[in-house]
Amino acid sequence: MDFTELSLAQAARMLRDGEISSLELTRACLQRIHQFDEKQHAFLALRPEAALDEARHADRRLTTARGEGQAPGPLLGVPLAVKDVVCVAGLPCTCGSRILEGFTPPFDATGVARLRAAGAIVVGKTNTDEFAMGSSTENSAYGPTHNPWDASRVPGGSSGGSAAAVAARMVPAALGTDTGGSVRQPASFCGVTGIKPSYGRVSRYGLVAYGSSLDCLGALARTVEDTALLLGIIAGHDPLDSTTLEQPVPDYLQSLTGDPDLHGVRVGVPREYFIAGIQPEVERAVHQAVQVLATLGAEVREVSLPHTEYALPVYYLIAPAEASANLARYDGMRYGPRRTAPDLWQTYAATRGELFGAEVKRRIMLGTYALSAGYYEAYYAQAQKVRTLIREDFERAFGQVDLIACPVAPTTAFRLGENTSDPLAMYLEDVFTLPANLAGIPGLALPCGFDSQRLPIGMQLNGPPLSEALLLRAGWGYQQSTRWHLEAPVL
Ligand code: GLN
Repeated sequence: MDFTELSLAQAARMLRDGEISSLELTRACLQRIHQFDEKQHAFLALRPEAALDEARHADRRLTTARGEGQAPGPLLGVPLAVKDVVCVAGLPCTCGSRILEGFTPPFDATGVARLRAAGAIVVGKTNTDEFAMGSSTENSAYGPTHNPWDASRVPGGSSGGSAAAVAARMVPAALGTDTGGSVRQPASFCGVTGIKPSYGRVSRYGLVAYGSSLDCLGALARTVEDTALLLGIIAGHDPLDSTTLEQPVPDYLQSLTGDPDLHGVRVGVPREYFIAGIQPEVERAVHQAVQVLATLGAEVREVSLPHTEYALPVYYLIAPAEASANLARYDGMRYGPRRTAPDLWQTYAATRGELFGAEVKRRIMLGTYALSAGYYEAYYAQAQKVRTLIREDFERAFGQVDLIACPVAPTTAFRLGENTSDPLAMYLEDVFTLPANLAGIPGLALPCGFDSQRLPIGMQLNGPPLSEALLLRAGWGYQQSTRWHLEAPVL
């Protein structure tokens, strides 16, 4: 049996039933990483020995649990990967930046702690655009990740390492973060499933802050069922993040049984998302995917989100503004390396000037400008007002429909280097994913076809705040009726 082909849910069940061991599974994953990651570059750090030790320990606990008729942790013995902007105790956390080279956090992010408490084994940290700023993983200071479907193409970003690792069957699942599409867009480019929960559903504790009003921990895996399993574990109130919601976490897996029937579910297709510039094959595949939802009983109608065109400028004011404040802490004093100079200011300048990459510096400058006296009202405050209009667009739409179906990105994976000289072209990859972050609503990305180059295409489902159970139910129904999510790249 090829253990690396198992989905997360399958692996967890087979471990519980004693059909496979954690050691076999973890070894198979590490072996695959060893074999292919030199080319793929999905990982920035690995802990093979520690992971194998934990696997042996998990096997002992699994045996004991079986012997005593107890239920072990839902992920006991399952290997996972974590994006390198999320803290894992004892593993380096570089955020894809030179400025955090050598920094090892002494604590786990809440999401990581919960997965570990459920029995999961972290095998390593995955590549990311520097501080999660980017849509291709090319902004990583440690070199880009390659798309498993075509190594000359980007995996998307910024959680490109996580998406590539899952697509390449190196791990059954991985954590990512989504501030402006960074779980959904790479999931789409790599042909895997990714969920960005509602803002406040999942703790941000231990996520290195980028845009704090937008940042969200998310999960990537190969099936909707797997993302539901992960979300059920990482979601919920956390006293360490005051923006997390008190609402109880539903049993997401419970709604994924029986007939994949979508009768009574109204699906809206936003007129403004099928614009000039969208790759025709993407448009076609998403329309066909919506037809599948209709076949399952969903009622499909057109909706309008009139302020869609402003999401991009609004995001690229708010996110850099928040980033400029959040990244002020990297001064060479508290974390990572320091460049010394004759006085304190020159030390700051040398450290930040040398160790931040070009995109991060661009955003710090744009954000600082947008927040500065005299410009604050014209830029940041104005962007916040338009953000409200964007949220209200969704509120109005969700008065008429239960879900929205649309593309994840306007194109399939582009070539490495294709957009690096033009930041605006790169930002345009985010047009369909940014609105959900600005509105705080959940988004699910799932494979829905291939273009003529055999590059994956993704459909996105959005719903009102805390509608994850319905999103997952619809996405699961779609995957029960299609096979796109089962396709694997040949490495
Ligand atoms: N491409 C977006 C950006 O560069 C996505 C960021 C994110 O979601 N982390 O800001």
